[in-house]
Amino acid sequence: MNEIPDRTQILRWLHENNPDQLDALWRRADEVRRVYVGDAVHLRGLVEISNHCVRKCAYCGLRVSNRSVARYRLSALEILDAARKAAALGCGTVVLQSGEDPGITVDWLGNVIRAIKSETALAVTLSLGERSKEELAQWRQAGADRYLLRFETSDPNLFNAIHPARAGNIGVRSREGHPRIAILRTLRRLGFETGSGIMVGIPGQSIESIAEDISVFRELNLDMIGIGPFIPHPATPLGGACDRARSSPAHARTLMTDPELMAYKTVALSRLVRPDANIPATTALATINKQNGRELGLRRGANVVMPNCTPLKYRKLYEIYPAKACIDENTQDAGESLSARLQRIGRHAGSGSGRRNPFVHLAAP
Ligand code: SAH
Repeated sequence: MNEIPDRTQILRWLHENNPDQLDALWRRADEVRRVYVGDAVHLRGLVEISNHCVRKCAYCGLRVSNRSVARYRLSALEILDAARKAAALGCGTVVLQSGEDPGITVDWLGNVIRAIKSETALAVTLSLGERSKEELAQWRQAGADRYLLRFETSDPNLFNAIHPARAGNIGVRSREGHPRIAILRTLRRLGFETGSGIMVGIPGQSIESIAEDISVFRELNLDMIGIGPFIPHPATPLGGACDRARSSPAHARTLMTDPELMAYKTVALSRLVRPDANIPATTALATINKQNGRELGLRRGANVVMPNCTPLKYRKLYEIYPAKACIDENTQDAGESLSARLQRIGRHAGSGSGRRNPFVHLAAP
């Protein structure tokens, strides 16, 4: 039933702004979602284990050059406690996310992963940035199931501009040389379920490059695809660039007119090209549209939500972008209102770890 759109059709949809036409896209993505992954919404408890970061990403508030951030790293016991709370909330998976923090060592995190796996039935997802093959292999051996690493954009020039290479490394020259795409291939070889994704609405990002990103999702056969609108952070170079662009007509064309809408289109098209993937309605969507960004994501192709399970006192310090949704919600309240909100749109919280089901993949037309 799902005819996978080709490159030309993807581009046409990304340029489409007629609400009636777009309704057809939302309906199609929602139907493909229902047929391939069902009405269950899998909950992944997000635990932001450290905001230390050695990188200088031009989009992210945790960049090393932002001296105004009070840095923290959770203890092993705090992580374990947060994981237990995630399980109690109905999450089948805990996602351990951080800046790129060399203080998170192979052995220390390996022990944390082993403790979570022995004490709970949770699947463990890591999202710790660009780590070496050896480190990734050891975390896989310790029991980590999945890894999330967004390639952010497949456009080599834009990626170089927003994500400076580490000292001594050269920038990207071609899509094939994209360091994050190379790591995604390594993760797959190591047996991780592999997730990636992009930001939508980065200053200077073209609609053509988003069409290319969606083709990459398909080629990489991703298990998970995370898409969020870019949200300017004032303490970053891209935050400043956005301010300048808004006040200068000459620069205004580097900004996408409606990143929120473009993000929904990208979610819907990602569902069409990777029908059985796990696709979250991201926190960035819930932030850009606090009223119903999450629900709209879920009705336009998404099937996963990631409640924030970071201990409250650290949550506001993990400021990758400002005014993040859930910054001061109590984890428990978030869970209760979440199931009510899911019911209202005819969905329910999933049970089990909610891994991508390869049998569905094989059996589906
Ligand atoms: N250090 C890890 C985790 C980063 S946070 C890594 O680099 O993979 C997870 C995601 O948040 C990033 O991959 C990026 O896509 C998103 N993000 C960061 N800054 C953002 C911003 N200003 N607006 C929207 N999304 C942002």
